[in-house]
Amino acid sequence: MTVNGASTTNGSATTNGSATNGAKPSMPGNKDLDYDVLIIGAGLSGIYSLYRMRQMGLRAKVIEAGSGEGGTWFWNRYPGARFDSESYSYIFSFSQEVLDEWDWSEHFSSQPETLRYCQFLAKKFDLKRDMKFNTRVKSAHFQQTSNSWLTTDETGAQYTSRYLITCMGILNEPTLPNIPGVHNFKGDAFHTARWPSDAAGKLDGKRVGIIGTGATAIQTIQEIVKTVGSLAVFQRTPNWTCPLRNTKISTKEMKEIRESYPEIFQKCLDSYAGFIHLSDTRSTFDLTHEEREAFWEEIYAKPGFSKYLSNFRDIGTDRKANTLYSNFIAKKIRERVNDPEVAEKLIPKNHGFGTRRVPLESGYYEAFNKPNVQLVDINENPIERITEKGIMTKDGELEFDVIIYATGFDAVTGSFRAVDFQGKDGLKLTDQWSESIQTYLGLTVNSFPNMFMVMGPHQMFGNIPRSIEYAVNWISNLIGYAAENNITYIEATPQKMDQWGDHVNECAVGLLANEVDSWMTGVNKNLSHKQKRSIARYNGPAPGYRKKCDDVASRKYSDFTIL
Ligand code: NAP
Repeated sequence: MTVNGASTTNGSATTNGSATNGAKPSMPGNKDLDYDVLIIGAGLSGIYSLYRMRQMGLRAKVIEAGSGEGGTWFWNRYPGARFDSESYSYIFSFSQEVLDEWDWSEHFSSQPETLRYCQFLAKKFDLKRDMKFNTRVKSAHFQQTSNSWLTTDETGAQYTSRYLITCMGILNEPTLPNIPGVHNFKGDAFHTARWPSDAAGKLDGKRVGIIGTGATAIQTIQEIVKTVGSLAVFQRTPNWTCPLRNTKISTKEMKEIRESYPEIFQKCLDSYAGFIHLSDTRSTFDLTHEEREAFWEEIYAKPGFSKYLSNFRDIGTDRKANTLYSNFIAKKIRERVNDPEVAEKLIPKNHGFGTRRVPLESGYYEAFNKPNVQLVDINENPIERITEKGIMTKDGELEFDVIIYATGFDAVTGSFRAVDFQGKDGLKLTDQWSESIQTYLGLTVNSFPNMFMVMGPHQMFGNIPRSIEYAVNWISNLIGYAAENNITYIEATPQKMDQWGDHVNECAVGLLANEVDSWMTGVNKNLSHKQKRSIARYNGPAPGYRKKCDDVASRKYSDFTIL
């Protein structure tokens, strides 16, 4: 990252993931290939990857299924979609011009504004001329005879490239619920991640049912409750959620934010998961009950993830500490929901606070105080099927004009499963990962030479753009190094991949989150294939992750087979 001030000479091995600005390596032996680099996906990862490849003078192309750039922020247009990390910690740091020119209007930017930010980047760096939209990649096969990738899209068009960079996002394959009759409903039905662009006003005054109570549903519910005629929320598992506390950013504030970007990025670099909230180094039990409650009141009153990430160090690992904090949040929920029975249903009982990704809300609990909002606990009153008119539960049929599926994604590996990736000797990535996910640094996979993953499994997720910038810089530096040294083949060794797998598993030991079903542990009960709970993300600290990757670069990538 540019913020840590270190950079290196053109294309040389680097000691960190810093961008090597201005590098212009030539790509030996690629003249018979269509591109030096093919990039799948035009979200933030694809945008920055293309920018870096161009900057290095490489011939790169982005293939994107959507009709425009933006990825997550292109697809997730549901009402109320917005950041729940601070806008200014989410901005890319690589371009001072962008930092100078782009203004955020809210502390937690809405989806339309974030999409505009993505479009702004694409326009500013003239990226769209190398992006092909409305094109879904069907397969990507490694060609052993030429050390290259042959990528085929759904129309049959083919692209050859030395390198393949997957920028497909971790939450990109929406899943519908495995409820019978899901296609029978005669009214409008939308998955939140495929929200139609012409849906505005379609919910006003309507009878709406929504299935799901994850981060997406929570944002949707608190927004649509303002205009719908009635709303039934079908909840299987309640989630711990607390106030976002979003506010507008004034011109004066934006000036101050701009001046403090270096400190903001440094804070993100220093923090566990790339956010501006640093954790409290004390144990929950270092304080008296009164002191603890006072501290929790303080962080609860702050915006964003403070009540999650600025908490005591043992909230995520010590069961007793976690229970105490969960009780504190449960008390807040009870204070906000008028009907005590509804409040109890909204309080999670099968997992502790922060053991699933914590959604942030603005008036979610108050939505259940409205007379036209009904909470259907499907553990008590299970959904039997979707009908032509609505949803049939054990207690009877509820009729709707619109059904919203906020039912999540085939997360992390789902986008890889959607493409037929084949590496050396025709090995399918799905087979390689059938027992457990295997990667090296979350960036590469043995038997899949010259393929790099941005936001692949085993990578730091946390604050996504921070992780993207690091991963893209690291990959770019390696590609630059290869170009300078006439290397055309880069493959992680099986030994290093095994060691990395052990390390990823060690980082997850003791975390309460890994005992709980969620997309973060690879559990999605709607999938037809069997999926065991797995460690899909890197759970160690981001500074430690970066150090490991930097070390590999500083040893001139000797962990790889390079030819
Ligand atoms: P999710 O967290 O996986 O939630 C899916 C919801 O649908 C859960 O409540 C789930 O219940 C329910 N569900 C799924 N299948 C069901 C079925 N067959 N019957 C009944 N209920 C069913 O997905 P999400 O809410 O889309 O969020 C995914 C992630 O996206 C978040 O964790 C977050 O990382 C990200 N996100 C970020 C933002 C932001 O930055 N502002 C906003 C939204 C989302 P169970 O829990 O019982 O499975």
